[in-house]
Amino acid sequence: MQDLIRKLLAELGEDPEREGLLQTPKRVEKALTFLTSGYDANIDEVLNDALFTVDYNEMVIVKDIDFYSLCEHHLLPFFGKCHIAYIPATKVIGLSKIPRLVDVFSRRLQIQERLTSQIADTIREKIAPLGVAVVVEATHLCMSMRGVEKQNSFAVTSAMHGAFRNNARTRMEFLELIKLRSAAPAQLDSMPAGFACIGQD
Ligand SMILES: [Zn+2]
Repeated sequence: MQDLIRKLLAELGEDPEREGLLQTPKRVEKALTFLTSGYDANIDEVLNDALFTVDYNEMVIVKDIDFYSLCEHHLLPFFGKCHIAYIPATKVIGLSKIPRLVDVFSRRLQIQERLTSQIADTIREKIAPLGVAVVVEATHLCMSMRGVEKQNSFAVTSAMHGAFRNNARTRMEFLELIKLRSAAPAQLDSMPAGFACIGQD
């Protein structure tokens, strides 16, 4: 990878041999390897020993989980907060494992919509809850840095299943509890697909 980074620097009009850039290929390789380490993570290992059988049917919420990801269209960061809720049927996930789950899917080349649905789908698969809701709020540097569609550089995506999809009251309770920064909860129902960076330019 370091050779490619050196070529990229030259292609950008830089001199890869100048002092400030000598270590850059090594650093970029290290950074990119970390930022895409989610590909190597095994979900079952991440959740290992942290699925518990319980007699509890109230909403479990973990909100304001910070995440950092790379948009697959521009390889630029998008980052923000992820909020997750579910209603257990028979099992819960250890609370500390939920941010790890977000890391696994955000440390890949992503689009915000897929990140949102992968987190929700994994929780469904692993503990079959009565309902699961995931809301992701993110700023996309590919939009804000390039000055395109500035007003949309902050995007909200959501995935609602089971009780959160079927029961407006449950959904509203969740949305009220996470109190989105920029989007009124009602907007989530009518949010168009492809709201986040869709890479047309
Ligand atoms: Zn992008």
